[in-house]
Amino acid sequence: MSLSCLFCRIAKREIPAEFLEETDDFVAFKDTNPQAPQHILIIPREHIGSLSDAADSHAPLLGRGLMLAPKLAKRFGLETGFRVVINSGAQAGQTVFHLHIHVLGGRTFRWPPG
Ligand code: AMP
Ligand code: ZN
Repeated sequence: MSLSCLFCRIAKREIPAEFLEETDDFVAFKDTNPQAPQHILIIPREHIGSLSDAADSHAPLLGRGLMLAPKLAKRFGLETGFRVVINSGAQAGQTVFHLHIHVLGGRTFRWPPG
């Protein structure tokens, strides 16, 4: 837990968010600046700064987090497709340095993303 970390504080419910799911080790909530009609963030309760900071021992945890994506996608009617994104590092566009999984859906996406 990092005292000043925004997502740690959301996970501890010190800062409000629109929660969609809570498990023993993850919480999911709506992104406040959605890039698609549905834009969900899945974050571990444990503070991990980025995917690059994760250890091999985090693999089971990260697997559980990833598997929340199709469950939430199904709940929000995204059966026709959804995109999962993890930005790791500032150059990749990471702005909040607490590992998070973006789940985006409800529109058509292009590839490559640019
Ligand atoms: P990234 O750029 O990959 O680090 O993603 C950070 C995401 O967090 C962005 O999509 C922001 O819109 C989102 N975000 C920032 N602050 C909040 C907040 N207080 N509640 C929900 N989402 C947030
Ligand atoms: Zn944190």
